[in-house]
Amino acid sequence: MRLVIAQMKHETNTFSPVPTPLARFAHGAPAPLEGGAVREAFKGTGTAIGAFIELADQAGAEAVYPVAGNAAPSGPVETSAYESMAGRIVEAVARGCDAVLLDLHGAMVTQGHDDGEGELLGRIRKVAPDVPIGVALDMHTNLFPAMGTLATAIAGYQTYPHVDMYETGVRAARPILSLLKKQKRPQMAFGHRPMLPHVMRQSSLDAPNKGIQERARQMEREGALAATSFVGFPHADIPYAGSSAVVVTDGDAAKARALCDELLDMAWSAREQFVYRAEPLAASLRRARDLGGAGGPVVLLDHYDNCASGGTMDTMAVLGAILDAGLDGVAAFAVCDPQSVEQMKRAGVGARVTLPLGGKTEMPALRLKGRPREVTGNVRRIVNGLYRNEGPMARGELADMGAAAVLDTGKAEIAVISRHVEPHDIAAFRTLGIEPQNKRYVMLKSRVHWRAGLGPLARAVVECAGEGVCTSDYSQLQFRRVRRPVYPLDPETRPSV
Ligand SMILES: [Zn+2]
Repeated sequence: MRLVIAQMKHETNTFSPVPTPLARFAHGAPAPLEGGAVREAFKGTGTAIGAFIELADQAGAEAVYPVAGNAAPSGPVETSAYESMAGRIVEAVARGCDAVLLDLHGAMVTQGHDDGEGELLGRIRKVAPDVPIGVALDMHTNLFPAMGTLATAIAGYQTYPHVDMYETGVRAARPILSLLKKQKRPQMAFGHRPMLPHVMRQSSLDAPNKGIQERARQMEREGALAATSFVGFPHADIPYAGSSAVVVTDGDAAKARALCDELLDMAWSAREQFVYRAEPLAASLRRARDLGGAGGPVVLLDHYDNCASGGTMDTMAVLGAILDAGLDGVAAFAVCDPQSVEQMKRAGVGARVTLPLGGKTEMPALRLKGRPREVTGNVRRIVNGLYRNEGPMARGELADMGAAAVLDTGKAEIAVISRHVEPHDIAAFRTLGIEPQNKRYVMLKSRVHWRAGLGPLARAVVECAGEGVCTSDYSQLQFRRVRRPVYPLDPETRPSV
């Protein structure tokens, strides 16, 4: 048995000014991993491709690894990057294989294609019309019909924070391996509802998504091969942004259709609960001050500038407000500002520096200029920024914040980094010598994933509306291409009272 196993992951925020060249998929190397290096990097990790590798081993299969690339969310993928990765995958399939297992994101937009994943599957189908294709997807998939039509079996994460990447790989691969052994006949149904669930309301730890994901898992316990409800990624101005579902059964197309529709109806009827309303920043800071005290940190979420949703990770509105409010005992992760890191490196540990911190990136889609903030402090530490995730999210995977430094103002320890990394793992802080549990306040540029590794530390959470391309104020974003009408943008989609 010969398997082609590959990873090509990117969540595209079409409003983000952050470029997405091939190097972004390669964590600092010039090009993403290929061949035996993929196996070496991912075997034993809590990722979908890690699961593919283990299942291939168990099946005694010969596996080839044309590419493994995973870029932090940003603007549309550069055409040359897409062609390089997709080209390698299609070439490997064209050389002949019994099945293809793909670890994709599901919300990839390229400079040339709204549907990066569907385009890839279309190219694979041209060289291998009948080869079984199993696809693992992120819960933030924006599912175009091409993917649902061309894949043999799809499974998406059932958790947000995403702590079931490995399990999702198993759910995507098993139907394919069973098909090869002629034990199962995967039948897939997919569909959509015209709604854009807000990311701040998508966590599977809370209603309404909690109940929807529980129902999907129940469907699998009752015999479905894979049942997935996608919340979608709303910061993408493409026709199929938003809610969808896909269910795979063993040989029963009608059952797959009925279960898929049930998941879609659950999401649609809960659409009002997926709406998020932000409070003004000044009110958030007042609450934070009132909450401050002993017993563990208050988490301040700078959720408009989450790099794991395409944020530039360098807007200073929330951190500036924290400094202006004089909050004490603060740790902040992070301001992505390679220039400031360089300045701090040149000054050296212990030096006192004044920096124009952050605000280096313009955001034309929001008609916003970058606005640095002058900050003075001591350079507390300088590191190379490589660390291994402790988990539970992406456990064991190597993460890279690039060259990084800690700027200590006396009241706030600010992580300044060179590569986009969302703080979802305690190791991000420990690499910088910061123990967040000892702080009164922890500012995170994150929306939901922080809860994976840092949630248990938080005594309270204050969501802070700052500035950035993950804005909750949709009136700042010009949706031109998303299919209409769509909830909550259009009044006719609102539930009747
Ligand atoms: Zn996601």
